[in-house]
Amino acid sequence: MESINYSMTGTVFDIQRFSLHDGPGIRTIVFLKGCPLSCQWCSNPESQKITPVIMYRKDECLHCGRCIEACKRGAISVDNETFVDRDKCIGCGECANVCPAGALVLKGKKMTVQQVVNELKKDATTYRRSGGGITLSGGEPLVQHGFSKELLAACKAQGWSTAMETTGCASEQVINEVIPYVDLVLLDIKNINSEMHKKYTGVGNELILKSAPLISQISETVVRVPVIPGFNHTEEAITAIAEYAKMLMGVRTIHLLPYHTFGENKYDLLGRDYQLQEIKPLSPEDMEQYKQIVENQGFRCVIGG
Ligand code: SF4
Ligand code: SF4
Repeated sequence: MESINYSMTGTVFDIQRFSLHDGPGIRTIVFLKGCPLSCQWCSNPESQKITPVIMYRKDECLHCGRCIEACKRGAISVDNETFVDRDKCIGCGECANVCPAGALVLKGKKMTVQQVVNELKKDATTYRRSGGGITLSGGEPLVQHGFSKELLAACKAQGWSTAMETTGCASEQVINEVIPYVDLVLLDIKNINSEMHKKYTGVGNELILKSAPLISQISETVVRVPVIPGFNHTEEAITAIAEYAKMLMGVRTIHLLPYHTFGENKYDLLGRDYQLQEIKPLSPEDMEQYKQIVENQGFRCVIGG
């Protein structure tokens, strides 16, 4: 068996314990930084850049000015429209260290494989009893592919079940390196129309549609579809995804993830605009209709997932 590099580091922005989503049983989700996509509905916009990012909660701010003094880059000023100048900020976290109010929070920190495994071990009994395990999410875990592979190998060495949420937007080489260590892949297929895909996520879908067959050959795969009004909430778009999924070996289940606005406030904390402000969430009746379309194509369909 290959030896595992426990000292390899990756950039992690969150570890959530006791999740009932994103795989069977009770799971711990490890969120990794970096994503090749920038979906307009992304509920983790702090994940998109691979480097750490600062979030600023202006309601908490005491206007003491300590952060302005601490920032060697001159990135913070009351004259900046969004307080932190994102072009100057390098995500060093010095401002957050001195902020007495917790108004500045750094999202993303370097951790070794061993440090993450130590965190995960806290719930090892729960994984065993519930049939759960660990799930890598992000961001896109395949961006930090070397770290993901070592972490997954370390989890397998502990006997834990592994899952990964992925956009599939990665090279064949990266997929062959990482996916063999994943028991269950939750693969997003967002739109078969590449132009629409590019307009709403920043990238075309060519690489994703090329990767999906390979991923589903290597590991058990569930296709996931975020259902977004104006982007893919039509009968044609959902049917096209289900028809595509029929060509993926062993895919039996499709999850439809209804559009929500849980991450909307984070855009403000990052000094960014949320572009889907006018969009209203879909009704349960709408989602049932899409579910029916997917089931008619022969899949088991779950709303949520
Ligand atoms: S993270 Fe570093 S560079 Fe960015 S605003 Fe804070 S102190 Fe300045
Ligand atoms: S250190 Fe914190 S409380 Fe003080 S001005 Fe900066 S963000 Fe506000």
